[in-house]
Amino acid sequence: MSFVESPERVALRQVVSDLGRRYGFEYFAKAARAGEHATELWAEAGRLGFLGVNLPTEYGGGGAGLYELSLVLEELGSAGCGLLMMVVSPAICGTVITRFGTPEQKQEWLPGLADGSRIMAFAITEPDAGSNSHNITTTARRDGDGWRLTGRKVYISGIDGADAVLVVARTEDARTGRLRPTLLIVPTDAPGLEYRPIEMELLTPERQFAVFLDDVALPADAVVGSPDAGIDQLFAGLNPERVMAAALSIGTARYAVGKAVAYAKERTVWSTPIGSHQGLAHPLAQVHIEVELARLMMQKAASLYDEGQYESAGEAANMAKYAAAEAAVRAVDQAVQCLGGNGLSTEYGLAPLLTMARAGRIAPVSREMILNFVAQTSLGLPRSY
Ligand SMILES: Cc1cc2nc3c(=O)[nH]c(=O)nc-3n(C[C@H](O)[C@H](O)[C@H](O)COP(=O)(O)OP(=O)(O)OC[C@H]3O[C@@H](n4cnc5c(N)ncnc54)[C@H](O)[C@@H]3O)c2cc1C
Repeated sequence: MSFVESPERVALRQVVSDLGRRYGFEYFAKAARAGEHATELWAEAGRLGFLGVNLPTEYGGGGAGLYELSLVLEELGSAGCGLLMMVVSPAICGTVITRFGTPEQKQEWLPGLADGSRIMAFAITEPDAGSNSHNITTTARRDGDGWRLTGRKVYISGIDGADAVLVVARTEDARTGRLRPTLLIVPTDAPGLEYRPIEMELLTPERQFAVFLDDVALPADAVVGSPDAGIDQLFAGLNPERVMAAALSIGTARYAVGKAVAYAKERTVWSTPIGSHQGLAHPLAQVHIEVELARLMMQKAASLYDEGQYESAGEAANMAKYAAAEAAVRAVDQAVQCLGGNGLSTEYGLAPLLTMARAGRIAPVSREMILNFVAQTSLGLPRSY
């Protein structure tokens, strides 16, 4: 085990960071305020091979792993322009198709996901089944050789810019009533699929949508993997999602702390810069430590996943996502505090990070559900629900 990043990873970190800094938070915020996607950044990151760095080389990817993909998102986030759809398109959808797709599905989707020319959204959350995925009612019914899909999803990120959405539906296990998740690729222009934006207090180019699926007809090969493969196949995508959510939180936290430290070195209202007052210096040091710890756990989770240690990776991914979200919430709050009134001004661009960091405590899996997982799985405590 080495804590020294390979020269390749160091170099990747540098070129991604350079790209992120060329665009920066101003570009990101302008696109979000105009209701536009971060199209130019996404396209350039795709062309440079950053979006598909984890996908197999035979399908146009970089042949590296989740470690590299999370590194890319962390660096873009730390430049103020973390691309939320990286959590979904290459990480969840790309991974699930790579691990469980047919050769035809891989050929159809992976090259486009790898170079960013095609985007896939992901839909599991439902109005009456948020944290409790076992309650989802979106149902895939067999119809001849194909399927009919009916249901409703909420908070689906970026479906307006996506070519397709990977929908988690249920086919019932009649004996137990337990969810047997089936993953279906649904083109966003399929008849019967509609979406409407949900107004959010988040300044991101990717918006969230309510999605309506009304008897959408799909071919047999819309299903990725086996319809009966169960929960493991779903978590093949959800654990990378957690690692990537951690990367986004860590990137955001690094960006905020960087801004605050630069400001605290300059701003002087007594005889020394405000950063010399321990009332500001200590909390900044504290959040820096917390971010570094979360980062280590994220790197551990990604490394375990890349080594095929999926069970341990699952536990570490949950812990990393928890630690990163908590660190980011505290880091952004402290950064805002450091800037005083400027912390809430539009000019300094820190205030929008308050809700962005806060979202990391809720999505893609809430803080409480991670604590439930750790209590039950790591500690063996009985469950209350
Ligand atoms: C910015 C953003 C982007 C998103 N993007 C996507 C997307 O692309 N695709 C997608 O499918 N979903 C997406 N989501 C949805 C997200 O995954 C859900 O919001 C999240 O899983 C929580 O579900 P919920 O909102 O229904 O909350 P609920 O499940 O209703 O939970 C409400 C509260 O109750 C707590 N709670 C629930 N059950 C328990 C329990 N057993 N023990 C203790 N506490 C409990 C929760 O932790 C939470 O605090 C997104 C959400 C946001 C905010």
